[in-house]
Amino acid sequence: MKILVANLGSTSFKYKLYELADTQGGANPQGERMVAKGGVERIGSDSSKAFVEANGRREDMVIEARDHAAAVNLCLGQLANPAWGCLKTTSELAAIGFKAVMARGISGVRLVNDLLLRAMEDCNEIAPAHNPPYVAAMRLLSQKLPDIPLVAAFETGFHQTIPDSRKIYAIPLAWSEAYCVKRWGFHGASHRYIGQRTAEILNRQDLKVISCHLGGSSSLCAMIGGKSLANSLGMSPQSGIPHNNRVGDFDPFALPLIMRGTGKTLEQVLADLATRSGLEGISGHNDLRDIEMASAKGEPRAKLALDIFIEAVRHYLGSYLVALGGADVIVFTGGIGENSTLVREAICSNLGFLGISVDAKANLGAKGEAAFHAQDSKVELWTMPTNEELMVARQTRDLLLAN
Ligand code: ADP
Repeated sequence: MKILVANLGSTSFKYKLYELADTQGGANPQGERMVAKGGVERIGSDSSKAFVEANGRREDMVIEARDHAAAVNLCLGQLANPAWGCLKTTSELAAIGFKAVMARGISGVRLVNDLLLRAMEDCNEIAPAHNPPYVAAMRLLSQKLPDIPLVAAFETGFHQTIPDSRKIYAIPLAWSEAYCVKRWGFHGASHRYIGQRTAEILNRQDLKVISCHLGGSSSLCAMIGGKSLANSLGMSPQSGIPHNNRVGDFDPFALPLIMRGTGKTLEQVLADLATRSGLEGISGHNDLRDIEMASAKGEPRAKLALDIFIEAVRHYLGSYLVALGGADVIVFTGGIGENSTLVREAICSNLGFLGISVDAKANLGAKGEAAFHAQDSKVELWTMPTNEELMVARQTRDLLLAN
């Protein structure tokens, strides 16, 4: 069956078109083929970059994608274009799977319907950068392609194994259940993939893995045997490590001070924390590449943003090493984790006392799936491209076959 997987990041839209054998459950590398992939980066700017890749051919273009709905439209146009030969018509699709973030009272893998969209909309305030574009894209597609099932694989599903001791906030307990105020955890598809792929590469099912997904959104996840035991993202995707423009961990008692000082309403301050904070709030730059360049040129705010980001990752890394009783492997993924040699080196520096030691040359050369730990390092260090779309494609297939 052919499944299109749509992955909407905070500023990006990526898709992959898969052909999967009709067999249920887990990995089946022989029965899986990616037919095409593409995407749009820097959505919201007047020079968004789009690409499509299929049959060994790639085309890059600069387009204007004002929002995620425009980006989804572009993708559908490309796949149904005979020049690419990917789909004769869109009705060839068995389903479109979405790497969805969260819905009130719903997790796991579900067919998209009105009830589910409303449950997602109920979380718009909690996930303002993610849920509104997802709901908009899902509504657009259910109008344009009413015969194709839409499937939501929720990011929170993978973290259902996190114990209550790491899930419950120290608030009056009744609030946790009544208002769904818990550390749900996110980036589930990415961490699930890293857990599975690391086990495949090292041929061990019992590994203690710390997955560092560092990108526009960032989170760390502690796993044993591929099961999540902790995730740095909390009730909302704004928490944990500072993100490109979202705040990260923050003390709610600062809110009245900021409201009084700025004269802004609670909604306005929350919007600032969700769109004008994080690395951008500190440095004035939204993209880590720009922050690294500005820091190298001596911009103090850029250097501070880098230091804060690195310290936040090390904070969770230390916590998860204690929670797991040491790690077998630390994996770096996401746009920053895969590409920034500077950030990887800084995160792992001076951790010899924990058995973590970088091979500086290997780190500089690490691309794709590559180890960069020193020979005497007790903990293996890897870079690894994540594959969230493959996880969603498999989950979508399993849901269709189970129904
Ligand atoms: P998203 O969370 O939006 O899907 P990605 O995982 O694609 O984002 O990561 C995007 C981020 O990765 C960019 O904002 C940029 O900061 C960072 N990045 C990409 N390439 C590099 C690079 N070569 N060096 C440093 N950072 C990079």
